Amino acid sequence: MSEVNVQLNNGPAAQVPAPITVGEALKKLDRDLAKQALAARVNGREVDLAFTLDPDQNGTALKIEPVLPQTLEGLDVLRHSTAHLLAAAVLDLFPGTKLGIGPALLEDPRYGFFYDVIAPRPLTEADLPVIEKHMRKIASRNLAYRRDEIPKAEALRLFQEREEPLKCELIDEKAGETVSVYYIDNSPFIDFCLGPHVPNTNKLKAFKLLSLAGAYWKGDATLPQMQRIYGTAYFTQEELDAWLKQREEAEKRDHRRIGKDLDLFSIQEQYGQGLVMWHPKGGAIRREMEDYLREQLVQRGYGLVFTPHIAKRELWQKSGHEENYADVMFSPTELEETEFRLKPMNCPFHIGIYKSAQHSYRELPLRYAELGTCYRAELSGTLHGLMRVRGFTQDDAHIFCTPETVRQEVVDCINFAFDLLRTFGFENFKIELSVKGSDTTKKYLGSDENWAQAEKDLTEALQDQNLPYERIEGEAAFYGPKIDIKVEDAIGRLWQLTTVQFDFNLPQRFELEYIGEDNKAHQPLMVHRALFGSVERFFGVLIEHYAGAFPMWLSPVQVAVLPITDRVNEYASKVATELKAAGLRVEANLRSDKIGAKIRDAQLQKVPFMLVLGDREMEQGGVAVRERSQGDIGVMSIEEFKQKALALVKSRALTNT
Ligand SMILES: [Zn+2]
Ligand SMILES: [Zn+2]
Repeated sequence: MSEVNVQLNNGPAAQVPAPITVGEALKKLDRDLAKQALAARVNGREVDLAFTLDPDQNGTALKIEPVLPQTLEGLDVLRHSTAHLLAAAVLDLFPGTKLGIGPALLEDPRYGFFYDVIAPRPLTEADLPVIEKHMRKIASRNLAYRRDEIPKAEALRLFQEREEPLKCELIDEKAGETVSVYYIDNSPFIDFCLGPHVPNTNKLKAFKLLSLAGAYWKGDATLPQMQRIYGTAYFTQEELDAWLKQREEAEKRDHRRIGKDLDLFSIQEQYGQGLVMWHPKGGAIRREMEDYLREQLVQRGYGLVFTPHIAKRELWQKSGHEENYADVMFSPTELEETEFRLKPMNCPFHIGIYKSAQHSYRELPLRYAELGTCYRAELSGTLHGLMRVRGFTQDDAHIFCTPETVRQEVVDCINFAFDLLRTFGFENFKIELSVKGSDTTKKYLGSDENWAQAEKDLTEALQDQNLPYERIEGEAAFYGPKIDIKVEDAIGRLWQLTTVQFDFNLPQRFELEYIGEDNKAHQPLMVHRALFGSVERFFGVLIEHYAGAFPMWLSPVQVAVLPITDRVNEYASKVATELKAAGLRVEANLRSDKIGAKIRDAQLQKVPFMLVLGDREMEQGGVAVRERSQGDIGVMSIEEFKQKALALVKSRALTNT
């Protein structure tokens, strides 16, 4: 009997009898790990546990790394396998169903996997619990996932016999000479798939089907329409339950629903998907965001600039955007034989301003800031409310500086970001430093010395401030390293907002210069930075963070004036006028509804303060004040309330107490 040399992770080499599967070999190396493993990597290649090890390795040990639960790789295998289980259940319940693709989703916070199907009759939401129940039944039978490698012609015959035209199309397009297919034994399901999968259905214990949506084969609206069944899976029921609970919370806070209920914004199909219209109430919030930002920019030495929305196509060729971002840029438009394109970014314009004059080192750093509206041709399937749009405004800035001052500039950007994020009510942050990493196949611009220096500057900027951060190798942009700040919202979700990025590309492409102390021309360093990120997305995050109950200074309506009877309408109007004159956003509800209904309305609109006015308040010239979460807080004079309200607004207080 022959033997095969193996090692577990980086452990010592060991001999195991051959032939042997990875799963069996793992059992001999570490029983516990073998029990937990979902799949494995052999010399870096992902395989099923049933994969048979090749004994002929010229004596060098095969490195076996188990793919374990609680890892991203493990989650991928788990969810992908659950998608197969879903397909098997659908085929069982609806024979004749045509299958499309069924990948795992790891980045999408809403779903964990999907399968695209064309069932003999359209599926409805009511079918989901039935399918899920059948998935459980199959899972409990502990069926094996079995891989087979067959010639392409045989695979095509197999799927033709099963009347799976879409799978045949995929095999035609993607397969080599041999095709790997997967069975779930004793189920009607076969898939054309590379794997790996869990060894058997027993490993799938915590999954749930979530929703049904329309989809097109290959995402192409001219191809057959399909139905996409979404679900998710976790390693344990506890994890799944916690996720479902957060999802329920998230649904209550969905910015698209709250945006409609509070009349903040709309995105209308007839105007174009991904294009946001800010209504007056959303506009009031945006104005507060912009006012705060502009006030800070001026205080912190930024120059406010304004630039066009389109530019000659040549500019985007020179900047490299056509090379690197062509797929998200809108097509060119022509005028008098010159082509123009909508801007996907503001950077080249700020460079244009810099280049319009010669600069000495004494003028640097120069900081140009703009609320710049950009357009990106995102595919409709990826759009999501305010979170992913086609037209958006960045609170963009570009800093041109010398190598001597860049570190301080980065420190200032980070402090600015923290001040801003805290002002808007975020307290917990996660900082990521993305650096070049050791992967030599990735293309980076700029010299090694420049990179090393920039990474050192960013690292020291964080360390100087004693800020905890995570260093991520290989995640830098091709043009430079960066710092990203994520914020945690009220229900514990992380959102990436602020970014501070070095750029070695544009200063070189545009031959930027400044005259140094030595009277010679030097290339300035360029830093891109956005704090909100996109104003639209930040607004979406704010809506969900506060579930629409914004702090006083951001509230679109700060005070609701609610007369109890028509007799006090005139007094109510007078109170409203006085408060408006002081700069507060006030709405007087003079309809002849009952006071209970008026309060309920204002409460649903999340208005921070309600002034309930009856005969007595009118006689005394006072107001009875109700705060949206505390209820009645007593009667005060108009002046007293006005001062209290203005103080909250002026200090940008986060609570009303
Ligand atoms: Zn698969
Ligand atoms: Zn930029």
